[in-house]
Amino acid sequence: MSSILNLHPITRRSLLGGLAATSALVLLHPFAARAAANQAHLRLMETTDIHVNVFPYDYYADKPNDTMGLARTATIIDNIRAEAANALLIDNGDLLQGNPMGDYMAYQHGMKDGDVHPVIKAMNTLGYTVGTLGNHEFNYGLDFMFKVLGGANFPFICANLTKGQLASDPKKDDLFFKPYVIVEKQIKDGAGNESPVKIGFIGFVPPQIMLWDTKNLEGKAQTRDIVEAAKAWVPAMKEEGADIVIALSHSGIDGAAPSEKMENASLHLAAVDGIDAIFTGHQHLVFPGPKSWDGIANADPVKGTLHGKPAVMGGFWGSHLGLIDLLLEKDGKSWKIVDFTAEARPIYHRDDKKKVVADVADKKDVIEAAKTEHEATLAYVRTPVGKTSAPLYSYFALVADDPSVQIVSQAQTWYIKQMLADTEFKDLPVLSAAAPFKAG
Ligand SMILES: [Zn+2]
Repeated sequence: MSSILNLHPITRRSLLGGLAATSALVLLHPFAARAAANQAHLRLMETTDIHVNVFPYDYYADKPNDTMGLARTATIIDNIRAEAANALLIDNGDLLQGNPMGDYMAYQHGMKDGDVHPVIKAMNTLGYTVGTLGNHEFNYGLDFMFKVLGGANFPFICANLTKGQLASDPKKDDLFFKPYVIVEKQIKDGAGNESPVKIGFIGFVPPQIMLWDTKNLEGKAQTRDIVEAAKAWVPAMKEEGADIVIALSHSGIDGAAPSEKMENASLHLAAVDGIDAIFTGHQHLVFPGPKSWDGIANADPVKGTLHGKPAVMGGFWGSHLGLIDLLLEKDGKSWKIVDFTAEARPIYHRDDKKKVVADVADKKDVIEAAKTEHEATLAYVRTPVGKTSAPLYSYFALVADDPSVQIVSQAQTWYIKQMLADTEFKDLPVLSAAAPFKAG
């Protein structure tokens, strides 16, 4: 499906002029045309689960890949900003880990004072309003995470991560980050007049980080149930004057009944009073979208709603830009939502033969921002680690003894033996098991 076909709620009115000029089509959203004097069109854009994929490059295969890269998503961001005056950009977490550039920065390069991480350098060129934390932010330890996030020119929020233990009341929790921010933005209404709207953003991380990163977090942090934290903080945001409240939920969509510290709690989070729209993530899926959402009550994967409220999940590695369009109406002093659309815009599509076709080009500023580290990562992944006397392949790995599985197993033994060398277990025999897989 082409990206243009995906833009079902978008009027194609301005296509005629756009086609001739560039591939960046300027398509006017109907809310922009519809907004009356007391109404305004606000666009909220989401990147999520970038996992250090700034370049459209697969470092494992060592070749370009058109299905990924913030440099591509950034071009969609530019296109959307060109379509409407009022547009804000947020990130929904899982930035720092997930590809060799992340490992290179954590294990090889490190973060010295004054260093700015390449994914942050890239994001700093894009004008983010706010970001929330994903579970993978904790993979390299808290010190590394704080050094990296400290380089951003926008704030990070998280309402359910405390220092030490939980307090008796969520609002007394000693949080690592501000639970929310309220951003005042001047927006242009249908008559062209500017007036302020207060947009509140509140962030959530999966409570399971305490299990997944025990060694980095035990004794230092604790997590609270996502819905419980929302119920405590959202009324405070309203009291502080937020016209609308947007949840940045690094958590997926699960139709199961609510449970304590649920990992994928976005559906139940959407039901919390006062939350108006919700950005989701973590599952590496696309919402609204065709797959994975059948039979989940109170989720509409066509319109893009959870409990009737606009919701998106913008894929992963930069594959999509999540977009929620709101038509706001001034109701006395405060703004409220009177209409909305939600979509996930892809950076590529597949042709008849299932071949990947890029829909957008790289944004140069983003490429430039992370170029040095990209090249260093290429050198890092191309460093030889050994030599084999015969070619290794895995064609028969599933049916017979296989050298590709053997070498994985030997590497595991070598690694563990080194870890045991200076411990009381140094003389224990080490066995290694590896699951066969076929590649190529
Ligand atoms: Zn995640």
